[in-house]
Amino acid sequence: MLRVAVVGSGPSGVYTAQALLEQSRVPEVRVHVLDRLPTPYGLVRYGVAPDHEKIKSLQSSLRAVLEDDRITFVGHAGVGGAGELSPARLKELYHAVVYCVGAASDRPLAVPGEDLPGSYSATEFVSWYSAHPDAAADGFALRARSAVVVGVGNVAVDVARILARGAAELRGTDVPRAALDALGASRVREVHIVGRRGPSQARFTTKELRELGALPGARITVDGAELALDPAYAVAAGRPGAPLPAVVRRNLDVLRGWATDPPPTAVDQDRRIRLRFFLRPVELLERGGRVAGVRFARTAPDGDGGVRDTGVYEDVEAQLVLRAVGYRGTPLPGLPFDPVRGTVPHLAGRVVRDGAASPGEYVAGWIKRGPTGVIGSNRSCAKETVASLIEDAPLLVGREVSADPLGALRDQGLRPVEWDGWLSIERAESALGRSLGRGPVKIPDWSGLLDAARGESQ
Ligand code: NAP
Repeated sequence: MLRVAVVGSGPSGVYTAQALLEQSRVPEVRVHVLDRLPTPYGLVRYGVAPDHEKIKSLQSSLRAVLEDDRITFVGHAGVGGAGELSPARLKELYHAVVYCVGAASDRPLAVPGEDLPGSYSATEFVSWYSAHPDAAADGFALRARSAVVVGVGNVAVDVARILARGAAELRGTDVPRAALDALGASRVREVHIVGRRGPSQARFTTKELRELGALPGARITVDGAELALDPAYAVAAGRPGAPLPAVVRRNLDVLRGWATDPPPTAVDQDRRIRLRFFLRPVELLERGGRVAGVRFARTAPDGDGGVRDTGVYEDVEAQLVLRAVGYRGTPLPGLPFDPVRGTVPHLAGRVVRDGAASPGEYVAGWIKRGPTGVIGSNRSCAKETVASLIEDAPLLVGREVSADPLGALRDQGLRPVEWDGWLSIERAESALGRSLGRGPVKIPDWSGLLDAARGESQ
């Protein structure tokens, strides 16, 4: 029997477990899916925006995998941190360990003023409205009138959309109580989403972009003259030029529609989203010890896909700044790490130590390939890793390992939250929602989650 530990129960971890069950070369496989949190599903629970119900519903397919008899969910079992399990110990207990730990940190802007009060990473904001138990307890008061979101990827679009939605629109979601109250009392009326390059280089996808134009309480504006600074804008309109990738053409078509035929303003649309391009942040401005705005350098295309500064600057007022400039993997003590790419070095998913593949240790998902792609991209990524693992299996199963690794970990002091504990959390979240006249509402703190897992919540 091949015994595998998968570290991380987000999409890449669950797809890895699924691929292990679906392969046919090794018939007897048992998989323990470990997670630092007492809850499964990783970024599907704590990253996908609460108003994206369709993507959230992916949880039911991940759930079906985790409920297979050959899989055991082991929540509240961190790996690599102080006092947590070590990669060396896992290697002793299992034939193989697959690390699917994602990209836990965010990239900095590296400009003066970045650490001023009022300036946050988008990850902090997302964690807060997603009820991640590590999110800052005091949350976001949202007293700002104007917010700047730096970056034009899907995370930027997510946080801008949540800022622009009223509490009434989010009441039907699982947003935690405190975040819903704060969003309800929010004074934010302007949200600027700002890209340092042109619209043809934006990383958002068209469906997510279109949503910004369909918010009941917010009006989208784009400046046609700014869009036209991008040579691809004319190409998308039918002028001669190299053919554009489909997603770029679709994005430019949506933007042109908004520039030339702005959506009519509804009476109750008191918020505005401004989508800006060719502005590179150079400094966060301060007033009274807090962020008061962002100074941008106006850029222009350099003809090579990049931009150059033009020597012109523009200040945008903002009492709230969210940096949505990408995630970054963090080193896991005991595993090799490439600090430039922010990933674990690997060969087809096999962890590389001292220049050679280390049999029995694997990676999948963002910690393997970097923070790119949609959730589905993790499926093929996991399959590649599992193919390598299964190829190594004859060598791996030759080593005797514990028949009861979980028992061994319990003896070592681990107090895991298993599947029943998670189901108990789900019941507690449904009960909390019912008491508030809502659907399930997420429990936002560690003690609440652990009490619920032990059936100690109301
Ligand atoms: P992303 O797609 O890599 O976008 C990052 C953005 O930040 C880019 O516009 C980038 O511009 C900009 N940026 C980077 N460094 C910057 C700097 N120093 N100054 C100014 N701008 C800077 O990252 P993401 O939005 O975090 O998304 C991560 C992944 O999750 C993506 O694959 C995304 O599609 C996925 N995701 C999907 C969904 C969804 O499907 N609904 C939702 C959320 C996230 P440059 O291009 O110029 O570098």
